[in-house]
Amino acid sequence: GRPTDAVAREFGLDPASIVKLASNESPHGVAPGVIAALAEVDAASNIYPDFDCYDLRHAIAADVGMAPDQVLPGAGSSEIILLAARAYLDGTRKAIIPQYGFQSYEGAVRSVGATPVFVPVKDWVPDIDAMLAAVDDDVHLVYLASPNNPTGTVLPRAEIERFAQALPPHVLLVLDEAYREFLAPEDRPDIARLFQMRRNLIVMRTFSKIHGLAGLRVGYGLGDGELLQVLRRLQLPFSVSAQAQAAAIASLSDSTFLERNRVENESERARVAAALEKAGVRILPSGGNFLLLEVGDGPAISRELMRRGVIIRPVANYGLPTWIRATIGLPRENDVFLGALDEVLRAAG
Ligand code: PLP
Repeated sequence: GRPTDAVAREFGLDPASIVKLASNESPHGVAPGVIAALAEVDAASNIYPDFDCYDLRHAIAADVGMAPDQVLPGAGSSEIILLAARAYLDGTRKAIIPQYGFQSYEGAVRSVGATPVFVPVKDWVPDIDAMLAAVDDDVHLVYLASPNNPTGTVLPRAEIERFAQALPPHVLLVLDEAYREFLAPEDRPDIARLFQMRRNLIVMRTFSKIHGLAGLRVGYGLGDGELLQVLRRLQLPFSVSAQAQAAAIASLSDSTFLERNRVENESERARVAAALEKAGVRILPSGGNFLLLEVGDGPAISRELMRRGVIIRPVANYGLPTWIRATIGLPRENDVFLGALDEVLRAAG
């Protein structure tokens, strides 16, 4: 999504009045402990971060129930997306991306000269059988997100397991769980089971979404220790800042903050969805902190909303020109969005 200041300049708006629901950022700020942790590290900004992310790897390992050498932190999960492509692909290889898969996957694949193979979704969720049928000796990587961005759709646990089991061993499966924490606990994939099924698997998570640390850039991959070493050798030195490491550790320990964010997202998402449905706007079921809604001319509606100080995300670049994606904000922000959308849709007839 476009930065608030840029939109304010273009439309002559007060930046403070702008509601930004464009990048699936958390509206709940950061956990209280993060502020204190950052203050401590800020004063030592003359010192390089721990390149090994020792404390962070141990904190994540304890949180997910894996070993510290099975954790690779990165500058956001974006870095892990790219490292996977660099480690597994080259100009002779292909990677499978489900239709409507997160846009960075294609960029990562193309950046190493490899070829993306887009497999159509079925009822808006990745089609496991079609993806399996698309695998050949040249396919070495599959990116799969659940919940997916921008659709928000969730691939059931059993389907993810069926895929992990059936995908040939030479293919790296990158399971992107950027929005995992927004799912009810019982709907989250059992990754211990997935790792029992295959070694060639990286599970990606991020601190950018429910933890509210998007500005600090920190995420991680989970997987086999030797496999992660291959990715790690391709990383820039010190790619995860000291601030990012300290904030992530502090945030992990605040389960109350995280659970409250999940519950508030769930109730606001339901409220916004109900309001949209009542207004006759088609939406997709979402497991994330955002909704995909069909509005007609997505880019034009987006521009009209922007004029009214509401930034959402048009998704024409995903081949979805009639849809827009709106992040779930605070109740007041969601009301501003719903009001502006109502006005814009009425004006558009
Ligand atoms: N994966 C998905 C599905 C996303 O939606 C995003 C960000 O929007 C990312 C990965 C990358 O997030 P980050 O690099 O901030 O961890």
